[in-house]
Amino acid sequence: MAEIKYTNQRIEILNYLEGNYTHPSVEQVYGAVRKKLTRISKATVYQNLKFLSEKGLIREVNVKGVSRFEPMLEPHHHAICRNCSRIIDFRSEDLTECSLNSAKKIKEIKVDSVNINFYGICAKCRAVK
Ligand SMILES: [Zn+2]
Ligand SMILES: [Zn+2]
Repeated sequence: MAEIKYTNQRIEILNYLEGNYTHPSVEQVYGAVRKKLTRISKATVYQNLKFLSEKGLIREVNVKGVSRFEPMLEPHHHAICRNCSRIIDFRSEDLTECSLNSAKKIKEIKVDSVNINFYGICAKCRAVK
């Protein structure tokens, strides 16, 4: 892996994301990091998030066209609330294995990873109704 420059900005972003499994958006990461680095711009936060996911230190998840970020790098799936866009990690080796197995039928692309999204309504949203 190429050498990564750990700037203050990157360290703050990584600190915020560490152990944070809520899959925050750029907006949320910006809101948190800005408390420490008051002069940082949202564009800079976004660029750093993109950079860190390209380097494989965090992962980008796209839900309803919105980029969200998470520290969990192990293969997993997502259950997404259709109402509030909350994302829950769902780990299932069986599902991963089974999906990769059936993906062998795809000839055009040699599939090596899979991420399945499940959609529904979360407990919080169900309670409101
Ligand atoms: Zn919800
Ligand atoms: Zn996740």
